[in-house]
Amino acid sequence: MKITKIVQNLTPYVPGEQPKDKDVIKLNTNENPYPPSPACREVLKNFDLDKLRRYPDPVFTDLRAAIATRFGTTPAHVFVGNGSDEILSLVMKAFVENDECVGSLDPSYSLYKTLADIRGVPWKPLAMNLDEATPPANMAMAFITNPNAPTGIVKDPAEIARFSARFPGVVLIDEAYADFAPCNCMALATAAENTNIIVMRTFSKSYSLAGLRVGFCVGPEDLIDALYRIKDSYNVDAVAQAVALAAFNDTACLADHVSRVKATRERFIADLRARGWDAPESGSNFVFVKPPAPHTAVDIFNALRERHIYVRYFSAEKTRDRLRITIGTDEQMASLLSALDDLIQN
Ligand code: PMP
Repeated sequence: MKITKIVQNLTPYVPGEQPKDKDVIKLNTNENPYPPSPACREVLKNFDLDKLRRYPDPVFTDLRAAIATRFGTTPAHVFVGNGSDEILSLVMKAFVENDECVGSLDPSYSLYKTLADIRGVPWKPLAMNLDEATPPANMAMAFITNPNAPTGIVKDPAEIARFSARFPGVVLIDEAYADFAPCNCMALATAAENTNIIVMRTFSKSYSLAGLRVGFCVGPEDLIDALYRIKDSYNVDAVAQAVALAAFNDTACLADHVSRVKATRERFIADLRARGWDAPESGSNFVFVKPPAPHTAVDIFNALRERHIYVRYFSAEKTRDRLRITIGTDEQMASLLSALDDLIQN
């Protein structure tokens, strides 16, 4: 059997653990602790099974129209993916030549590098301050995660706009967590004068639908059209299209869950600071925090795991002194804090 060199040499992306045991506190993959909109249940309950006999709408007409209307653009500017991860794979195929490279902030979502490896092109880090970034001339794409992950840092859209204006390739602004942030870049993606900016969002975080696998992006018509040209015919299934649309239309539910997560985040940051942790501000549904010496992130990660509390630890040099902790309910954060008090005293 012939397996390509790229695949043989690949270091695959490792997603966070999904423990089967329901009796855990799971704060490791930035899922939303609140349920999806009740409108999703209604859609599932009433879903006409005959619709499953047929293929789904290949161009997600209804969902796309709703997204376009919400952001003041037309459906020709909107693409929907099987999770936003699928969109990341597609842009890598659509906008990058074999002799070009791609870049992203460092640290950031490590899947960008893995996808570059799969595509067979180099990945290069960009300076955290984009005004100081010096991308090589053959950089075809820049992935700007805002808020960034795992740091939670939010950039001013003006900084991203300045970078995009001088960057010759495509800028994909990954706004997976933007609903939890004080600002976002959607206006850059819909402005007619911007020809190289795509903004990407997901239903996995703020809409509590990580299991459904729906993400979308908004951008210039020619770039969006390129994604339609290369996608699988039926990349978003019929159930997912209908459930995502119901969630998208329930703006009150979104606002309620987002404001609860943000309130818990602020309380949790204050609680950690009071215990001597380095807990910077976050514009996301997670925090990226450093325990007080002599405790190390990896030790706390392991000790919490033994107590069935799952957080995320990234062993790379720039991230290994911190833990990324998803914001759960107030009760979950209280249990985590009491486990931490116990660990840190003993
Ligand atoms: N972008 C970022 C920054 C993420 O953290 C994630 C979730 N791991 C994704 C994209 C992918 O989200 P999904 O495929 O669930 O839409």
